Formats: sequence, structure tokens, C-alpha cells
Amino acid sequence: MKYISTRGSAPALDFEGVTLAGLASDGGLYVPESWPQFSESEIADMAGLSYVELAVRVMTPFVEGSLTPEELRDLCTRAYGRFSHQAVTPLVQLDQQQWVLELFHGPTLAFKDVALQLLGRLFEHFLAKSDDHLTIVGATSGDTGSAAIDAVAGRERIDIFMLHPKGRVSDVQRRQMTTVRAPNVHNLAIDGSFDDAQAMVKRMFNDPAMAASHGGRFRISAVNSINWARLMAQVVYYFAAALQLGAPARKVAFSVPTGNFGDVFAGYVAAKMGLPVERLIVATNVNDILHRALTSGDYSTGTVTPTAAPSMDIQVSSNFERLLFDLGGRDGVAMAQQMGSFEASKAMQLTNSQRDGAASLLTSARVDQAQMAQAMGWAAECCGQTLDPHTAIGLHAARSARLDPSTPVVTLATAHPAKFPDAVERATGARPDLPRRVGDLFERSEAMVDLPGEYDAVAEFVSKRATPSS
Ligand SMILES: *Cc1c(COP(=O)(O)O)cnc(C)c1O
Repeated sequence: MKYISTRGSAPALDFEGVTLAGLASDGGLYVPESWPQFSESEIADMAGLSYVELAVRVMTPFVEGSLTPEELRDLCTRAYGRFSHQAVTPLVQLDQQQWVLELFHGPTLAFKDVALQLLGRLFEHFLAKSDDHLTIVGATSGDTGSAAIDAVAGRERIDIFMLHPKGRVSDVQRRQMTTVRAPNVHNLAIDGSFDDAQAMVKRMFNDPAMAASHGGRFRISAVNSINWARLMAQVVYYFAAALQLGAPARKVAFSVPTGNFGDVFAGYVAAKMGLPVERLIVATNVNDILHRALTSGDYSTGTVTPTAAPSMDIQVSSNFERLLFDLGGRDGVAMAQQMGSFEASKAMQLTNSQRDGAASLLTSARVDQAQMAQAMGWAAECCGQTLDPHTAIGLHAARSARLDPSTPVVTLATAHPAKFPDAVERATGARPDLPRRVGDLFERSEAMVDLPGEYDAVAEFVSKRATPSS
């Protein structure tokens, strides 16, 4: 499989290349040259497979040329062996129509583990093959950092430097990062906001002095959801849920709590591959740039309002570019222009073909704090199911979507409620317990380095401790 950039001018790469590169060199995002297709009978044949076997079937076409099915199976077996539920992503029924797909049984209690546990092993596999070394630098407001650190802790060929805004992530989220004690893990508590930390990471990626350090043998990469391999891993659970609910004979709808548009884009990919998806509901909180874009074509940034669902508190959704590229006839030149003007003015209008194409599969909803709490209360009362704030936003959108009652609607449960105990307690009166497997989180000792919110100090810290590539 070859991958091309949404902005048309970066070289096409194979799966190994896009996994290690992350972002394309023209500023675009990599997408497969064409969508692999499964026939109805091929999908019917997937019913009853274990999660790992299903993952191998769904992902094999994407990794062709870079991994054999046996190598892929081995990586998936080890990645999904870390999950605490045998089904990896179990499906729970709430009422006649509503279902919840629990994606939070991985080591750090958020759906990001599904992709990052695999990505950590993919990095290791490809780096061993080329006898190389990689430095991962990222900024996190919580979930990505802990999932990425868990995925690469102790791996010899990878160093990870994770910046978080000091004092502005929850205790659970911070401890999930700082109690991982491995020599290749560096937690940096930065004075400033998440946006400040993120800006430093972006600058580091474009810093010629950084690139020249260690005699130019400094290979830096990202783990946010611009990395194609993450999206690919997420396509699998759309198949898993739909197959259990009667696909391919029956269509299924999904409601997805959305931030950077990675998770819901994986659902779009599943539909492109032949999975019968009735609707994808893009659920946003009051930070509703995607809802505005999908209802009126207006994609313009505002200021971020902090909410109880912090992973959805975003200004722009990076992966939306992948959707716009695919819907706009895959015209890289036009996309480079559209995104260039968006980056300059912080606003753009979707074209008619982008709007019509999106409307044929995607619906959106904007869910406020009161509606989120109401959905959390409903799930607790009706079905004894405790939801985290992100999932509750998805469920509210699912129940308001007025789909045909015969269509099952699956809300993706993106985090374990114990990651957000205060918000859950406010809405339901009950405080969720941390699962036993992470129960000693508050007894373990923490390690992190405090750094000022100054680029030079952070860059020097990273450069001094990073291992050069070979
Ligand atoms: C990251 C995250 C999201 C948003 O997912 P995207 O792929 O960025 O749209 C939603 N909920 C939780 C709990 C998350 O950690």
C-alpha cells in the first residue's frame, strides 16, 4: 500500500515510512492511495473472529509491503494482550436501540490505548529492522500522554519527552504519566497552558538547530493522531461492533465523542471499506467548530472553553483535513490552497462537494454541560452504566439523532469514568472507583522535571538527553 499526502507534494511512502514520519513533509497528512474494499461475503466471513484475528483481516491491506500477516498478528497479540477484557472492546446494551462500545479496557483507561499500544510496537519493529533510534516529543492535556508513555516505556530504541502544563492536568492523568519509571521516559512539567506546551513542540519539529544536533542524526517523531497508524488501528473496532450487531446484513450507526476528528475518521474509513454504516454522529461539546462546519460549512476557530470533557476542548481538528481531501476529489493542490488560507485567516468555508459528501454519512450535534450530565444520569438510572463525560456527550447525541428505531446506535465509550471522578460524582452522586489493576496509582512515587515556559530551556533539555539515530 502506498500513502499520499493531502497537500499533494510530499513523496508517496509505504506503511513503514508513514508510521515513522507522522506528518508529511509538505505539512499535509498521509492517507492511503485508495481505500481497500471488502465484499459483503468477506465481511460476513469475519463474524465470530477474535479481536486479534479481526484486526489482522482489517489491517492487512494497509500494511502490505511493510509487514507480513504473521508479523502483524504477533504485534496485535502483544498489544491487545495488555487489555483487561478478553473481548478487548466489549459491547454493552443500554436499551432497545442504544449500545455502548467500551474502548477503555487498556492500561491507561482511555480509547487511545487501542491505537498506541499497537503504535509503540510498530515503532519498535521498524526501528529494529533498520537498527535506528527515535525521539518522540509530544504535548498533552492528559490522555494522549499517559497512553503514549505506557506504550513505549522501557523500549530501547525510543526516548519519549512528554510536556504537560504544570498543575493543569488531573491527578489521575498526571500520575499515570509520572509514576511510569523507565529510563527512556521524560515527563516535563511546563509553566504555562497546554497551548504553550504544544507551540513549543511544534517549534522543536521545525527547529534547524535541533535537526542539526548530534551531527544531524536526530530523528524526531510525533504520536498524536495525525499518525496514520493510529487511525488504522481504530478502524478495527467499528467492524467488531457492527459484526456483533448483524453486519453486513444490518446497518449500524455510531456516535463518536470528537476532538481531533481521528476516531470518527476511522469510522469513515470503515464505511469506505464496505462496512454498512447508517450514520456517523459527530458529537462535540460547546467547543463546536466541527458542528458549525458540518451544519453550515463554517470552519472557523474561536477561543477554547474548558469543560468537563477536556479531550474535546479543541480549536481545530487536525484530521478533518483528511475528510475534506477525500470528499473534495483528492485534489492535493486545491487542499494545500484551502488549508494555507485557513492557516493564515483561521477561518474557511467548506466547498459544496465537501458539504454534500459529508452530509451523506455524517451528522453532528453540540452537547452542553447540562445535557451531558442528563445523559450520564439516564445511563446510571436506566441501566446501571456509569459513563465518563466524553461518552455521555456521545450518548446524548445518539439519543437525540432520531434514527429509525430498527437501527442500532453504538456510542463509543472513550474513557473509563474513574478518569473523571469529580464530573461523574457531580452528575450521578456516586464516585467511581479506579479499577483494581491501577488501584495503587496513588501510592507509587512520581518522577518529573519542572521547566520554565521558555522554548530554549525545553529544547536544550531534550537535545541533551535524546539518543541520536544511527
Ligand atoms: C482523545 C479523546 C477523544 C477525542 O478523540 P479524537 O480522535 O481526537 O476525536 C474523546 N474522548 C476521550 C476520552 C479522548 O481521550
